[in-house]
Amino acid sequence: MEEIKTDSICPNCGSYLYYIENTTEIAYEGKITIHTFHCKSCYYKNIIIDRHDREKPKIIKLRVTNKNDLKAIVYRSPEAYIIIPELDAEIAPGIASNGYITTVEGIIVSIRDKLSLMGTGEEINYLRQRIDGILSGTEEKITIIIDDDSGKSKINSSKVEVTEKSK
Ligand SMILES: [Zn+2]
Repeated sequence: MEEIKTDSICPNCGSYLYYIENTTEIAYEGKITIHTFHCKSCYYKNIIIDRHDREKPKIIKLRVTNKNDLKAIVYRSPEAYIIIPELDAEIAPGIASNGYITTVEGIIVSIRDKLSLMGTGEEINYLRQRIDGILSGTEEKITIIIDDDSGKSKINSSKVEVTEKSK
């Protein structure tokens, strides 16, 4: 890996930034290039990841009807929206968000965590109770929908329905 001195200035301390480029293959995403800009004076770092391989835009659906479904492994790509219509919940991709691996349960827990930031109103308490019921694996059936223009997301379950998005 060759390090190149750039004309860019460190936003922290005003020194020149150095640049390193590294291309590699990772699971789920395929080939990626990691661009790293770093400052030798203050250790400021800015990392930008480029993904090379794209697949067709996809919608992935899983009916969650039992405890096993909750354990299904999910790879959520950085471009993916996660929608749970029964809960009126949508998780949008964040700015510069990285892909991550979780489970169906992990997604539902993260929605419950977000609820706790919204206070303790009656409706929120009711929603929280419903989510606890879903997490117990028996009380309520939901659908997890992943809408992914990069087509990279996956749910490891034989019950998954995948449809290509027509534009
Ligand atoms: Zn600096």
